[in-house]
Amino acid sequence: MASLTLEHIDKTFGTVEVIKDANLEIADGEFVVFVGPSGCGKSTLLRLIAGLEEATAGDIRIGGESVVRTAAAERGVAMVFQSYALYPHMTVRENLSFGLENMRMKKDDIAQRVDHAAKLLQIDKLLERKPRQLSGGQRQRVAIGRAITRDPKIFLFDEPLSNLDAELRVLMRLEIAKLHNRLKNTMIYVTHDQVEAMTMADRIVVLRGGVIEQVGKPLELYNKPRNKFVAGFIGSPR
Ligand code: ADP
Ligand code: MG
Repeated sequence: MASLTLEHIDKTFGTVEVIKDANLEIADGEFVVFVGPSGCGKSTLLRLIAGLEEATAGDIRIGGESVVRTAAAERGVAMVFQSYALYPHMTVRENLSFGLENMRMKKDDIAQRVDHAAKLLQIDKLLERKPRQLSGGQRQRVAIGRAITRDPKIFLFDEPLSNLDAELRVLMRLEIAKLHNRLKNTMIYVTHDQVEAMTMADRIVVLRGGVIEQVGKPLELYNKPRNKFVAGFIGSPR
């Protein structure tokens, strides 16, 4: 578990400025939702935090310590993708434990972590299956389970439910909320779904064109949107 600080973060791809002077303070254990239109920089911001991209300028601190020079695997951050990103030729158990072997963890400890994550997500009966033998919802559970086995300080979710049908989305939303209640880790959750943002977030970060437009509690944004764009995005009546 850890706090997260973004300080004057810029990111350019070629000549395109994709993130512009992003400043953000996330408290330890907070559940923060990033919203904004397609292409506004949500995924890029997550990738910068995860260490999958390097910032052009600015500082990122996790638990007070700068991580801009820390490799992705050492940051204590785990990311869950919309595409699940499971290995098709591996069983669920192998998908969950993959990478832990590389951390030179003992076999028993790996098994224990995998079992713990599998029980939490109710996929403990599916451990010997391959991803193609799973439903979309089950695959997403495995992807979340894999993040849990990393025992990260911070979880990053990049539109994890957008491939699921509406009913399953509601169910998984509740599961993720439950997970947060239980693990109490810092979580950042990207979505373009207003309902998800309003119901899940401790605070919402609204992005537009690489700029953080407004940060606040769901009701604050709803009642006091800074401008029409935020109002439109949050669905408030102004
Ligand atoms: P979002 O997740 O909000 O839809 P992204 O962070 O994926 O937005 O993308 C933000 C902008 O950065 C987009 O204009 C996108 O085309 C651009 N972009 C993202 N990744 C790259 C890359 N590797 N190279 C060049 N441009 C990129
Ligand atoms: Mg994205």
